[in-house]
Amino acid sequence: MKDLTPEETEELHSELLALNEELQLQVDISAAESRPVDLDEPIGRLSRMDAIAQQNVALANRRSAKLRIERIKSAIQRIAIGEYGNCLACGELVGLARLKVQPEAPFCIACQSQREARGSVSAIRPSGRG
Ligand SMILES: [Zn+2]
Repeated sequence: MKDLTPEETEELHSELLALNEELQLQVDISAAESRPVDLDEPIGRLSRMDAIAQQNVALANRRSAKLRIERIKSAIQRIAIGEYGNCLACGELVGLARLKVQPEAPFCIACQSQREARGSVSAIRPSGRG
């Protein structure tokens, strides 16, 4: 595998900036959708449960969007200091093919699958509120 060319880095950089904007928008929209459900609202039991379920989905989506934004920001910082494209765990190249799919990817495929196998990727838990 070879290092990213300046052109490739530049392309991934603009991809990251676009993704960042898109996700930020998504977070803003879901913030509006995940308002607490008003239990005094005169709606049926089923639709109230629907509303709560929808709210949980919106919260989970927002959490993963926020997590992705964090990764994108850190990738943009790594571009600035010239360390972008290297795996944070082993230092090997993450690889252009992988970065094209997921420009914020902090780990190479080997390290990523190791982490997933260890179960360090936190499961989505239901909201504690309510
Ligand atoms: Zn690695």
